[in-house]
Amino acid sequence: MSGRREELAANLERVEERIARACEAAGRPREDVRLVVVTKFFPRSDLDLLADLGVTDIGENREQEAAAKLAEGGTPEGVRTHFIGQLQSKKAGAVARWADVVQSVDRAKLVGALTRGAEAAGRELTVLIQVDLDAEPDGHRGGAVPGDVPALADEIAGSPLRLAGLMAVAPLGEDPDPAFARLAELSARLRVDHPDADWISAGMSGDLESAVRHGATHLRVGTAILGDRTSHR
Ligand SMILES: *Cc1c(COP(=O)(O)O)cnc(C)c1O
Repeated sequence: MSGRREELAANLERVEERIARACEAAGRPREDVRLVVVTKFFPRSDLDLLADLGVTDIGENREQEAAAKLAEGGTPEGVRTHFIGQLQSKKAGAVARWADVVQSVDRAKLVGALTRGAEAAGRELTVLIQVDLDAEPDGHRGGAVPGDVPALADEIAGSPLRLAGLMAVAPLGEDPDPAFARLAELSARLRVDHPDADWISAGMSGDLESAVRHGATHLRVGTAILGDRTSHR
């Protein structure tokens, strides 16, 4: 156990150094960027170690796995939970029971489902719109096509959910820079009508520097902190 704590601490320190360097290179204050540690596939004991090491935000991508982990003793003290996976509307009510932030809202149907879930649970939910950044977006990998973002944003703004901004994953096998530049542009456009929706969730273990360069406010980092997931599937 103590070996795992030291491993996580060392990995966190390395990622923290990367973020600090990226912020400095971009001329941005470190406080503008929040680290969300993605704990999918890893056990509850890692969540507790991370919370103890000062991690404030964790991300999970599967409702049942997350709910099971958080049922063991509740959400660790002082930790905000983010749902970052593809969401079926029939699972929205379950996600609303434990998530503080749902980063992957990509269609209007989820707005009603999450609203009902949050009301039933008596909780407030912050949401991000996930955008498909493929050069020829089809929404197949999850994410609204850019043209659908304004209507979806208005729908969320008219609901009890709090619209905080945008989330995206860089397209596979492509330079992340132009994709994250498109995301920054979409964010600027969104903020014309929704000035408080200023979060940009982008950047993972492999491309966090590019995301920081293009204005990311939230990074979702798994592998670089927890290690290889393939042995935990
Ligand atoms: C798994 C996952 C991450 C973390 O990816 P790593 O490459 O392990 O850092 C980030 N975002 C989403 C949406 C994910 O599903």
